[in-house]
Amino acid sequence: MKIYEKAPAKINLLLDVMRKREDGFHEVEMIMTMVDLADRLEMEELPRDTIIISSQAGYIPLDEKNLAFQAARLIKDRYNVRKGVYIHLDKKIPVAAGLAGGSSDAAATLRGLNRLWELGISEEELCTLGAELGSDVPFCVTGGTAIARGRGEKLERINNPPQCWVILAKPPINVSTADVYGKLRASELKQHPSTADMLSAISSGSFGGVCTYLGNVLETVTLQLHPEVLQLKEIMQRLGADGVLMSGSGPTVFGLVSKEAKVSRIYNGLRGFCKEVYVVRMLT
Ligand code: ATP
Repeated sequence: MKIYEKAPAKINLLLDVMRKREDGFHEVEMIMTMVDLADRLEMEELPRDTIIISSQAGYIPLDEKNLAFQAARLIKDRYNVRKGVYIHLDKKIPVAAGLAGGSSDAAATLRGLNRLWELGISEEELCTLGAELGSDVPFCVTGGTAIARGRGEKLERINNPPQCWVILAKPPINVSTADVYGKLRASELKQHPSTADMLSAISSGSFGGVCTYLGNVLETVTLQLHPEVLQLKEIMQRLGADGVLMSGSGPTVFGLVSKEAKVSRIYNGLRGFCKEVYVVRMLT
């Protein structure tokens, strides 16, 4: 039997870092939602007790470094599954882009293998397993829109933001999430985005409010390391996006746009500067 799972990309509407904890992790507050740019995973049971990963994308690891592999191994070990699985990753989400592609693949693997092997694991338990693989995985298991606290694993579902177009632009540079967090001086941050204002904009369905209260403290690091990300933000603003922010640790920049008439102008304008541009919708 073959099954399929979609693994959508996430964007952070807000990312705040309160402090660095004694255990080395950062205490964060993140508001995340999903967009309809997604990897597609195909999973097929194998008679032999093994995990095989393939992908058309030439630039991701296919061994135990792959997050889908790690998710399959975790669920097999924890639930004593003696069967094997072949997982094909049809990658559409740009890699190392701040869009949680790997985390979403891991989450889709957990959901998919739960179905394939009829394990009956609750969503809550899948989230707990996911937290062992990475801070963004629990959110990717449930999807929707959520506020995450702690190191990202304490999730609270909230309403979806108002529907709009999302234009994603990924400059051709690699950003390591660990490197960005490592360079962040949380105690020296002069400004923090307002989580309360963003939450009230979302709950009242105010698109203008969502655009106003977008904020990501990791921009203080990534924009300094890579001025081209700042340049991309400025270009997107100039082209008329209603709200513009870097997602996660970058380097992808997203623009929120309410009017369809503006979308192609912004897309065409961006394509002059950046090869990887995607026009998607919020997944609401
Ligand atoms: P995050 O925002 O969660 O840090 P990201 O979007 O910045 O994630 P990913 O696309 O998840 O970054 O890739 C980060 C690293 O993980 C890459 O260096 C990649 O080689 C590795 N990786 C492992 N498994 C996968 C996978 N299934 N898909 C993409 N990258 C993967």
